[in-house]
Amino acid sequence: MARHIGPVCVLCRREGEKLYLKGDRCYTPKCAIEKRNYPPGPHGQSSTFRRKMSDYATQLREKQKARRIYGVFERQFQRYFTEAAKTKGVTGATLLQYLELRLDNAVYRLGFASSRKQGRQLILHGHFLVNGKATTVPSFLLKPGDTISVAEQSRKNPYFEGLTKELAHRTVAEWLSLDGQSFSGRVVTLPSRQQIDSPLKEQLIVEYYSR
Ligand code: SF4
Repeated sequence: MARHIGPVCVLCRREGEKLYLKGDRCYTPKCAIEKRNYPPGPHGQSSTFRRKMSDYATQLREKQKARRIYGVFERQFQRYFTEAAKTKGVTGATLLQYLELRLDNAVYRLGFASSRKQGRQLILHGHFLVNGKATTVPSFLLKPGDTISVAEQSRKNPYFEGLTKELAHRTVAEWLSLDGQSFSGRVVTLPSRQQIDSPLKEQLIVEYYSR
């Protein structure tokens, strides 16, 4: 399945909950879920799919929700699952760990972007370095000890200049550290499930792939 390129609010409405795909707008009354929390499409308001979900449908929706939140292609998501299943530990938590360690997610979590989508765009435009090297791959998987920084020339960009105040007061997830003054962050440790702020029920995703 390809990445969704249309309006993203329909994805939240499809899932019936906020997936926080649009940055600041998601926290305002303009959020589509606040205004019309029913599935998109002409029959959305009369649709019954939210009431009649089989176990399979529930598991599928949870997997789709995770893909949408992190903006990951189906095949790549499956690869994360396969790797997580091979790794020692709780598969669901390891799967979330893979998703969290993506560079676009870390850029978002550090506050350099207001959404993962924006983070992806900024990375593709060459604004970030990982361990001092320019990296334009949003799916780049970070590991403990890695540093993420805004490229020197990008710091004069009005967008990043505008972030200065916010970064100075920002608190980040425990597995990350942020130095707002130098526009850089660091992966301190692998994120544990408790440290990942996510509404996902990862066990359902494990059940989906274990059918
Ligand atoms: Fe989802 Fe954000 Fe759109 Fe609300 S504003 S529907 S949370 S993407």
